[in-house]
Amino acid sequence: MTTGTSTNSWLRGDSLLRVAEWERELPWLWHGFSTRVGGVSVAYGAGGDDKGETCGDLNLGFTAEDEPERVRENRRRLVELATGCAETQLALIRQIHSGASVVLRAGEPVWSEAPQADGVMSDQTGVLLAVQTADCIPVLVADAERRVVAAFHAGWRGTVQRIVERGVARLCEEFGCAPERLVAAIGPGIGGCCYAVGEELRTRFGAEFAYADALFRRADDGVLPSGLFLDLTEANRRQLLDAGVCGERIARVGGCTACQTKRFFSYRAQRGRTGRMMSVIGIAP
Ligand SMILES: [Zn+2]
Repeated sequence: MTTGTSTNSWLRGDSLLRVAEWERELPWLWHGFSTRVGGVSVAYGAGGDDKGETCGDLNLGFTAEDEPERVRENRRRLVELATGCAETQLALIRQIHSGASVVLRAGEPVWSEAPQADGVMSDQTGVLLAVQTADCIPVLVADAERRVVAAFHAGWRGTVQRIVERGVARLCEEFGCAPERLVAAIGPGIGGCCYAVGEELRTRFGAEFAYADALFRRADDGVLPSGLFLDLTEANRRQLLDAGVCGERIARVGGCTACQTKRFFSYRAQRGRTGRMMSVIGIAP
C-alpha cells in the first residue's frame, strides 16, 4: 500500500459530498460528508488492491475488521480532500448516543483523548471537527457572520435526547450566534424508507415530541417491506427548525445510506459489519 497519493477532482467529488451553496458563498468554510468511495480499505468487500488506488473503501473508523494502517491512510485522504492539507488536525469525539456537546474554543489545544459527546462546536481556525456515522444522521452547522462551526451525530437515542436542538441552543449561547443566521446541512443517514423500528420507539418519541406522529409511517399494505418506519432525517430537521434555524437554510445531502450500499456504509443494511463515514466542518485559517 502506498501513501501520499495525491488527490484529484474525481476523488473529491465522489468521496466527499458538499453543499453547493456553501462552496459558493462561504469560501472560508471547510466541510463535507464522506462516502465509502475512494479509499484503501478492503475489509468490507470493495475491490481495493495493495497499490493504494482509489477502488477500495474509504472507511474512516477504527473498526474491528479493518486494518488501522488503512484507516489512517483513509483519514489522511479525507482531511486533505476537505482542507487541502493532510496535516490538518481532526477534533474527534467519542460518540455515546447522548444529548451532550463539547466546545473547543479558539486558542485551546485540541484534546488528545476524545471527550465523550455527540456534538462538537468551535470558533477555532485550522481544525476539522468530525463525527462518524454509518446510518445515524450527521448534521453540520455554521454561522457565516461569527465564523463558528458545529457537527452533530444523531441516532435515534441522540435524537430523542435532542442532540441537535440542544446543540444549536448551546452554540448560540456559547458564541452569541443568532439562530436565524445559521446554515445547516443534514448528511447521508438511514431514511424513512428503510429504518424499520419497534413500537417502543413510537412511544419514546411520542412522549418527547408533539410532532412525533409525523415522523413515523406504518407500511402494512402487503407491499414489502412492512412494519413501522422512522424518519430520523425529518426528526432532526424539526429540531433545527425548533432551534430557530430557517427552513430554507437547511440543506439535505446524500440521501438514504441503506438504499445506496455501494455509495455509503450502512450498519443496518450490512448487518453491523460495516465501515464508518465521517462528516467534517472547520474554519480555514
Ligand atoms: Zn432507504
